[in-house]
Amino acid sequence: MGLRAKIVLLFVISFGLLALVGGSFLQWRLHADFDTIETRNATLSMQQLARNIQSEIEHLDDLNTDWGHWDGLYNFMRHQDRSFARNDLGVDALISARLNLLTIFDRQLQPVAAHALDTRSGTASSLEPYAPVLAIVTEELRRNASSNRCGLFSIPASALILCWQPIYRSDGTGDHAGSVLMARLLDQRITTRMQRQSELDFSLQALPLRATVMAAPSKTDFHPREIGITAARPGVLQASLPGITGEPTLGLSLRYARDVSTQGQSVIGQPMAFLFVVVALAAVVLLIGISTMVTRRLHRIGTDLQQISSHNRWSDTVRGAEGRDELSLLARNVNHVLGVIHRQVQQLELLAQTDALTGVANRRAFDHRLRLDLAAITRNDQPLSLLLLDVDYFKLYNDCHGHPAGDAVLAAIGAVLKESAGRPTDFSARIGGEEFAILMPNTDVLGAQVIAERIRAHLAMRALAHDESPIAEHVTVSIGVTVARAGETPANVASRADQALYQAKRDGRNCVRWSSPQMTG
Ligand code: GH3
Ligand code: MG
Ligand code: MG
Repeated sequence: MGLRAKIVLLFVISFGLLALVGGSFLQWRLHADFDTIETRNATLSMQQLARNIQSEIEHLDDLNTDWGHWDGLYNFMRHQDRSFARNDLGVDALISARLNLLTIFDRQLQPVAAHALDTRSGTASSLEPYAPVLAIVTEELRRNASSNRCGLFSIPASALILCWQPIYRSDGTGDHAGSVLMARLLDQRITTRMQRQSELDFSLQALPLRATVMAAPSKTDFHPREIGITAARPGVLQASLPGITGEPTLGLSLRYARDVSTQGQSVIGQPMAFLFVVVALAAVVLLIGISTMVTRRLHRIGTDLQQISSHNRWSDTVRGAEGRDELSLLARNVNHVLGVIHRQVQQLELLAQTDALTGVANRRAFDHRLRLDLAAITRNDQPLSLLLLDVDYFKLYNDCHGHPAGDAVLAAIGAVLKESAGRPTDFSARIGGEEFAILMPNTDVLGAQVIAERIRAHLAMRALAHDESPIAEHVTVSIGVTVARAGETPANVASRADQALYQAKRDGRNCVRWSSPQMTG
């Protein structure tokens, strides 16, 4: 995978994670806040509901208290006036007071009047469903004849508000004459009214009772803030209100709209989308920046280097070395290394073409140069001279003066060649043990003979003593000269020069002979 692809992948992963984590955190955090706001509002509604039920209990308690201090009822209890019982304690009294149960106990706990009302039909109903109420209240009055309570109670399938009270004169004087018990069902009628008033969506549920004894006496003994509200599921709160037995008696279930969360979600959605767009834009900008500043420049350095190495153009440089940043520094360092390589390659090439002993070119370089120069004269029609030189009686020299001295002579001849053929285009080479050659472009046979004689003269001036030479007292050379024709092969030219050299040897050595193309045909 390329560097660019890796960077893209890295960006996608890191920015993706950033957006994901950031977005999730935002959502989680705000969602929790919206939830808290909703739940708090719903909890307040639930407490309001509990207060409403409490005020229902207080209303019945007030009514019950009025009855307990009603002189008419007191006198009835004393004198058992039948018309009072008929007119004031009948079903009509339950209807007008919106009661479902009315029972008057005398001091012996005998019910002197007991009526139940079916609210829907508005007619008397059976006392049977209220048997648990009568049983538990009778039991309570037996323990405490003047007990006075008001609160919630549940009978099978319905919850009711239950109050009882001793009967006194309205001024509170006299012994208590019995007790008045009244109950009002928390039925659909009351629920609907409360729903209309509070505009809350709730339901009431009677919880089954186990206790048969009363808890410590008190009225409406629950505080709306302590009713143990729990979240049943999202959007629903539940609570249970204690009744007069102290047990959970009335279940409240409140459904609340999740408007805040829904609106919150859409409110979060916009910044989230914006965040994603910003993150994506930032990623694109960074990618373009990195691509321009890093990967593209690295790629350019790489392709430049590839071009240089594949074409052996070590003198070239890579681009992008002008700036001041790290990549420009890298390019400059690469160029520096390329310069070092270039110089070393040049030195190696020179070494590969140079004869170590004499300092002139070697055989390989001579062959190469001969081919080039022959090709050149076919284009520019200039004369090209070739000189072949051979040291005379060199075997004898070695035998007499020793091999190292012979090497020194060869080195001296190399120097003589260089000083004698001094044009930049002249090319001297050692092509065999004690054989040398000089290529001289743009030089005709006369010019070549002048150079050949100059070599002999310079060598004579050096006067390198040769004690065994039959022809001179110093080292001498024989020289063959020829001029190349356009289109000739290197072997042809070399062979003609060799013939001239051979002629020089035959003519007594230490002389110059030349061979023209016409002479050799
Ligand atoms: P001629 O005049 O006919 O050329 O006689 P010559 O003795 O020069 O010819 P020959 O070819 O018989 O001998 C060449 C000698 O050159 C033989 C060899 O010892 C000597 N020679 C060749 N290369 C070197 C070298 O690198 N160093 C030294 N010292 N001698 C060399
Ligand atoms: Mg020889
Ligand atoms: Mg020789």
